[in-house]
Amino acid sequence: MKSAPALVWFRQDLRLSDNPALAAAVERGSSLIPVFIWAPEEEGSWRAGAASEWWLGRSLAALNAELEKRGSRLIIRRGPTGRALNDLLAESGASALFWNRRYEPAGVARDRELKSKLRESGITVESFNGNLLFEPWMIRNAKGQPFRVFTAFRRACLNNSLAPPSKDPPRKLPSPESWPQSLEVAELGLEPAIDWARGLRETWQPGESGARSQLKRFQNEAIQEYRLGRDKPGIAGTSRLSPHLHFGEINPGQVWRAVLGIMNGDAIGHAACEAYLRQIGWREFAHHLLFHHPESPVQALRPEFAAFPWKTDPATLRAWTRGKTGYPLVDAGMRELWQTGWMHNRVRMVVASFLVKDLLIDWREGAAWFWDTLVDADLANNTLGWQWVAGCGADASPYFRIFNPVIQGEKFDPAGGYVRRWVPELAGLPDEWLHKPWKAPESILGEAGVDLGRTYPLPIVDHDEARERALAALKSMQRSWNSLRRGLSGSMSSE
Ligand SMILES: Cc1cc2nc3c(=O)[nH]c(=O)nc-3n(C[C@H](O)[C@H](O)[C@H](O)COP(=O)(O)OP(=O)(O)OC[C@H]3O[C@@H](n4cnc5c(N)ncnc54)[C@H](O)[C@@H]3O)c2cc1C
Repeated sequence: MKSAPALVWFRQDLRLSDNPALAAAVERGSSLIPVFIWAPEEEGSWRAGAASEWWLGRSLAALNAELEKRGSRLIIRRGPTGRALNDLLAESGASALFWNRRYEPAGVARDRELKSKLRESGITVESFNGNLLFEPWMIRNAKGQPFRVFTAFRRACLNNSLAPPSKDPPRKLPSPESWPQSLEVAELGLEPAIDWARGLRETWQPGESGARSQLKRFQNEAIQEYRLGRDKPGIAGTSRLSPHLHFGEINPGQVWRAVLGIMNGDAIGHAACEAYLRQIGWREFAHHLLFHHPESPVQALRPEFAAFPWKTDPATLRAWTRGKTGYPLVDAGMRELWQTGWMHNRVRMVVASFLVKDLLIDWREGAAWFWDTLVDADLANNTLGWQWVAGCGADASPYFRIFNPVIQGEKFDPAGGYVRRWVPELAGLPDEWLHKPWKAPESILGEAGVDLGRTYPLPIVDHDEARERALAALKSMQRSWNSLRRGLSGSMSSE
């Protein structure tokens, strides 16, 4: 007699290779039913943004195509997840369910509850680590506490060994006697109703084979120069694996081993590989922080920031989102984001610093815009990035470090290739003026066809003045915090 099928519930692990949940289901020896459940309302405040939804639809189609090559298919249902899983278990007679873990607060709570309810009803439920090098609860300091400092966290990670990769699935996946009904990917409505996604289509190939080609490109063309190349937004000097890693089309263990393979082969300097693996380490650290501080997407980890005098200024926020601040590097970054769903890391830091420090707009407003527009929007990495720049996170950049968008442009985009690509109305300006057009002589502007205030905006703030304002706001926050603490300790000692 055939044993009852197993369900493999795909979430942010949209790949077949090195997928521990899938490998465990295959190992069990029964037929298996790959499942995806669309339940955006279960993500709490963090329903996938529009760019992520676009990616998800394409990635699901790619996963289904890979499954079909193995004689299987992806069964797609709408949530609520509990009901969809129960229906599928009943319809298929499946007796086991396997998934790879997620670490966002809403997902953790939902999965915990599902696991205990299904186990109570006699279903075998197993979850696995399919998306991180180490589980967030595995890495602890000498006192058994989670880390708040990256270098110490990284050192502790390096003292652990990576789990070996899971077995890849066989060429043919065992199918059930009959397939449960499924929705088509198109029925989930993940493609935009008005087609704004041309730039995304031209830039990305969602899915496992897209992830593999991106890794190969990086290994062949960019890793040697990564240490310096990673800071130049005008070249493809980074791996561009972030959306693939977010959706689990490749896992960090696969990336880590591929890079270690190059290091061991000594084909290139260890330094370049180490610099790259360090970034994978930041991704681990971000998930560690999110898991141990589930409030961090909405709350600064440094409590004094609760009293920071953020400004509410919709018109200025809109100028930032549209890439119309009058600072070419900031505008180039925001337009790259709008058109491709991605932005270079150096420029993410510059635009985020500009929003939070030059414009004094709350980091959560910036994080929300990134959430909607990034194809790699990731609650752990986005929260870490914004809290780092705002100076309010664990191991963050100090608040008084304020990026100067002109100097950053001149240093990291000296020949102006990046700005000219994304802000074409400035393309005719000579390099000397490209990052500060408002300082260019009238004749130069005229020759380049730039009419400031008409063809390109004048700066919406003066950076030097904005810097002073930001530092004053920081001091005032610290004063209020110190007096609050003095008040608290005074009232406690008088009790
Ligand atoms: C304000 C701000 C917001 C950010 N939001 C996100 C986000 O939503 N999603 C996201 O994946 N990254 C985010 N980052 C981190 C970083 O900018 C991107 O991971 C990186 O630009 C992706 O490009 P890449 O894959 O070519 O990176 P590479 O340089 O090739 O790095 C390899 C991988 O390491 C990880 N990584 C690199 N830098 C970081 C970092 N600083 N923190 C955490 N992980 C990192 C990513 O998974 C990345 O794919 C943010 C950074 C900032 C400053």
